Amino acid sequence: MTMSAGALRLHRACAIIRAMLKRTKIVATLGPATEKPKTLRKMIEAGLDVARLNFSHGGADDHRARAEALRAAAAKTGRDVGLMGDLQGPKIRIRRFRDGSVEIDDGADFFLDSALGLEDGNRDGVGVALDTLHEDVTVGDVLLLNDGMITLEVQSVDGTRIHTTVINGGILSDHKGINKKGGGLSAPALTDIDKQNIRLAAEFKMDFLAVSFVRSGDDIREARRLFEEAGGEGLIVAKIERTEAVDNIDDIIRAADVIMVARGDLGVEMGYAKLTGIQKDLIRKTRKASKVVITATQMMESMIQNPIPTRAEVSDVSNAVMDGTDAVMLSGETAVGRYPVKAVRAMAEVCMGAETFELPVGQTRHRLGDYFSRVDEAIAMAVMYTANHLNVRAIFALTESGSTALWMSRIRSDIPIYAFTPHVSTARRVSMYRGVTPIHFDIKNTDSRQVYQDVFNIMLARDSVDVGDRIIFTKGDLDGVSGSTNAMKIVEITAPE
Ligand code: PGA
Ligand code: MN
Repeated sequence: MTMSAGALRLHRACAIIRAMLKRTKIVATLGPATEKPKTLRKMIEAGLDVARLNFSHGGADDHRARAEALRAAAAKTGRDVGLMGDLQGPKIRIRRFRDGSVEIDDGADFFLDSALGLEDGNRDGVGVALDTLHEDVTVGDVLLLNDGMITLEVQSVDGTRIHTTVINGGILSDHKGINKKGGGLSAPALTDIDKQNIRLAAEFKMDFLAVSFVRSGDDIREARRLFEEAGGEGLIVAKIERTEAVDNIDDIIRAADVIMVARGDLGVEMGYAKLTGIQKDLIRKTRKASKVVITATQMMESMIQNPIPTRAEVSDVSNAVMDGTDAVMLSGETAVGRYPVKAVRAMAEVCMGAETFELPVGQTRHRLGDYFSRVDEAIAMAVMYTANHLNVRAIFALTESGSTALWMSRIRSDIPIYAFTPHVSTARRVSMYRGVTPIHFDIKNTDSRQVYQDVFNIMLARDSVDVGDRIIFTKGDLDGVSGSTNAMKIVEITAPE
């Protein structure tokens, strides 16, 4: 049967679209707005790579239902979508008002008191859910409530009662968060609720566990210990949202697998004017340490209400992509927004647009002065140098743990990296790595020529390569031992025999 000219054109166009890869990954938060299975499926088709469950909202049953719905939707589309559990952490919150909220005026007196009744807040003051708050503040400190919408300056501290003057007033409602400008509120990073949720995350086999309000590398080590003790196997994400975390960033990067630039709380504590510089710094440092980085919060905030992003939001996402972030994140836009699918689609489009302005390849000086400690790491670096200086269509990494793909993806390049792995957990993990596409592949053959051809056949079938394309393979001795990549091979794609 021959195709008509029109059908052929359509077929080619589809193949080009399929072959067009988004390199930057999209994390989107699940919530009431993503409840319909069809919505989840469309989000995945639009470019969702990792779904985030926010443990700050909803109970264990909500999380369980959402985790199951996500896995089911991913299975339907045949894509590997990672699942991230995000612990609520020790966010310090006010207690409740008698009437649910109050309006406080600029210049008024207002107190915070951990000894006040749980529901006794009024125009004069409100309870706080941290017994030691009065020990952590002194006269002149600025407290920010409701993500910085309301600002209070401490006038005096009298027992548990903190007297303040309202600098920026407004409407204040139950349970809003409190930050101190400059940081220094000493709540431990893992609460009892977090410890319960760590067990939940392990039970759901979550691919990523995000730890909120970390202060140090030790907070991350503790979270990892608890997660592993509960049987968890995913990567640990450190959310950088406290001044102390910025101060201890080197040790946190060492301890964590992934860093999240959590611009919401971070912007409140550091002041938003410093945020852009800190973002660029965190992305650069994380990539240099061969770790993974997510840029988060308010990236397409206006899409909670509107079907298209503002130009400023487009520019924000583009700049994060150009800075080299692995992933960009959607929060309220998908969790409670009116257009969850459109938000993912717009984000994917903006990412791809920005990626075409990648640094000219070959100019990266990434780790040029480094000595490598591992053979697989050295192979990964050699591959990227070669790929960026030779005409290569793609890189095929046969990988157990995904670490070869991780090292390769730390180097700027516009060449797609495919991670062939027999493990679902590895496939979902690498879904966060920029430029890496997971492909399920079980090595059943001991003849390496036949293994190559099996891989070629898969990639030809999905229109990712053509016969005659040059590609680079990385592999071990095909014995399925983790960390054993020791070879690179440059070959041309051959047709199925
Ligand atoms: P959150 O964290 O959405 O859990 O608050 C992200 C941030 O603070 O930016
Ligand atoms: Mn936060």
